[in-house]
Amino acid sequence: RRLTKHFPVHQLGPSRNKPVVHAVEDISLALPEATVTAVVGESGSGKSTLARLLTQLIVPTSGELLLDGEPVGRSGRARREYTRKVHLVLQDPFSSLNSVHSVRYHLERPLKLHRRAGRDELDAKAKQLLERVSLSPADRFIDKFPHELSGGQRQRVAIARGLAVEPRVLLADEPVSMLDVSIRLGVLNLLDELRERERLAILYVTHDIASARYLADTAVVMYAGQVVESGPATQITDAPAHPYTQLLLSAAPDPARTTPPVLRGRGSPPSLVNPPSGCRFHPRCPFAMAVCKTTAPPALPVATDQVAACWLHSTERTPAESAPLHNG
Ligand code: SF4
Ligand code: MG
Repeated sequence: RRLTKHFPVHQLGPSRNKPVVHAVEDISLALPEATVTAVVGESGSGKSTLARLLTQLIVPTSGELLLDGEPVGRSGRARREYTRKVHLVLQDPFSSLNSVHSVRYHLERPLKLHRRAGRDELDAKAKQLLERVSLSPADRFIDKFPHELSGGQRQRVAIARGLAVEPRVLLADEPVSMLDVSIRLGVLNLLDELRERERLAILYVTHDIASARYLADTAVVMYAGQVVESGPATQITDAPAHPYTQLLLSAAPDPARTTPPVLRGRGSPPSLVNPPSGCRFHPRCPFAMAVCKTTAPPALPVATDQVAACWLHSTERTPAESAPLHNG
């Protein structure tokens, strides 16, 4: 709830105004069980920082985490309990597994840490984990080493390791972006199975809005540390209300598109040390108006459950505020 993260910028020499990176700005997000929520944005939009805030790997500047509606306590016990329930799966299945250890080691270690179990029980549990991520028969994989597995199989082992502690929430940060295109779909389908069968709440962080449409129930579009649009994933991709979402969609490969994309090639995301005034997207926005440069737009309802932070959807603009900014 209302998570904000500002990182100090370390620089040489004395400085009166210590610069900060405005990485995540006032973001509230619900992750209901058995639901995939996609966080979509370019690199540098703050989406990975948001995922890390949700794991407690980094401490928010302000805002709080809630689990089942209750604020997460500050005691070591409350934080450990939260960490068990909220698991982060990283982008790179090559570095997240230790090459000197077998699959068995990677799965049995968290099992041992979280419950006392005998040899046979550990073996059975580890094999069950492999079956849960469709690495079966488990006997074929359990004693392999990471280098003997494909990228997709490694990512499945990394996910199985996360499941060992029976989390309720899986945070997957670009889980398929390092994988061959041909095996991405398999891993996305696995996440969908886990959502349905194990009723996990899944946060899917991606730069690829097409995959968000494929997998997610809800999509949250981030730009320069802020949420610019959110709503049902199909609604957001069929009828994007925010110019930035339209830009993302125009950049996504779409074999069905018949008209040329409107917003292609309009520069890159801004620095978050000195974010643009008003709407942070205004320097890149083809629809920018006078008001956009001076005043940050509020989140405005545009359809059922769909919200966009953009002045285009406000009915209370004056003619002066609506004057075009003539960007590029
Ligand atoms: Fe473009 Fe203005 Fe909307 Fe921002 S608020 S996206 S600059 S029209
Ligand atoms: Mg990232």
